[in-house]
Amino acid sequence: MKDKKIRALALLSGGLDSTLAVWLILQQGVEVIGINFTTPFFGPKNAIKASEALNIPLEIIDITDEYLKILKNPKYGYGKNLNPCIDCHAFMLKKTFELMKKYQADFIITGEVLGERPMSQNRNSLNIVAKYSGIKDYVLRPLSAKLLPLTRLEREGLIDREKLLDIQGRSRKRQLELAKEIGLKEIPTPSGGCLLTEKFFAKRLLDLLKNKENITRRDLELLKIGRHFRLPNNIKVIVGRDKEENEKLLSYFDEKDTLFKAKEPSAVVLVPDNIINEKEDKEFIAKISAYYSDHKRESEIPVLYKTFYKEEILLVRDLLKENLEFSIYNLSCR
Ligand code: SF4
Repeated sequence: MKDKKIRALALLSGGLDSTLAVWLILQQGVEVIGINFTTPFFGPKNAIKASEALNIPLEIIDITDEYLKILKNPKYGYGKNLNPCIDCHAFMLKKTFELMKKYQADFIITGEVLGERPMSQNRNSLNIVAKYSGIKDYVLRPLSAKLLPLTRLEREGLIDREKLLDIQGRSRKRQLELAKEIGLKEIPTPSGGCLLTEKFFAKRLLDLLKNKENITRRDLELLKIGRHFRLPNNIKVIVGRDKEENEKLLSYFDEKDTLFKAKEPSAVVLVPDNIINEKEDKEFIAKISAYYSDHKRESEIPVLYKTFYKEEILLVRDLLKENLEFSIYNLSCR
């Protein structure tokens, strides 16, 4: 029936659905190459595990720069937090479509399930995704295929529709049964851990998008570390919450930044992309630094102020008598 081996590219997040979708297609003798798109918001960890379990090659592609443009202005809006799921899916499909020639692939597999996610996986959204990315004829969703219109791939006999599934809805029951049946040792989580769907991360990211024009990878990585404050004069302050975060913040400290560190034990306080020179600002951030130390009840707390070019010791006196309320500047509390 088929002379040439059929080859598919699979959008592989490493979640349960995309893993099962690949498995189903492998059963039809199709060669599958996993494609994983990575940004600071979602990484390849689960996809690596899944590709190993499925024994397929995996291509990991960093799309951060292009993705930021989508994130700032998604055509189809955001989900519950800052997750532009429809645009995200469409973009990934479009990128995968562009890779088809390079890999001489015949079609693309996704783990989308009809009606599983209210925003991005209802029938209309699936159509938008395929239409928007311009590749409708090349996309197969093996988990819901029997509920979706016949694709070119099935019509042309590249794929046997009878061996595809008719899963729909939010219950993962059938997926879990199938995972068990095929002996998947580790059941992957459904979402794959996208930070854009997390409320507190979304608040920080929104603040960054509002306040900075040219966002760098460092800005995005810093969003994952510490408590984040936005002070009235637009100064961003990051406070480490434990030893590991303090070390990470120290590793990011560079010539554009200011660092504050109260007498040990204390948190590292980083002011990214800002050399603090104003006396009032210095004193205020020194108070934050003193507050996040083990000495906040002491009458005098020395705080190191440091830039790449200058160091001095600031003294914070009678901190708790001032009744300061730093939480109003904490982005997670807003
Ligand atoms: S959850 Fe994140 S990675 Fe998944 S489609 Fe939505 S925005 Fe994209």
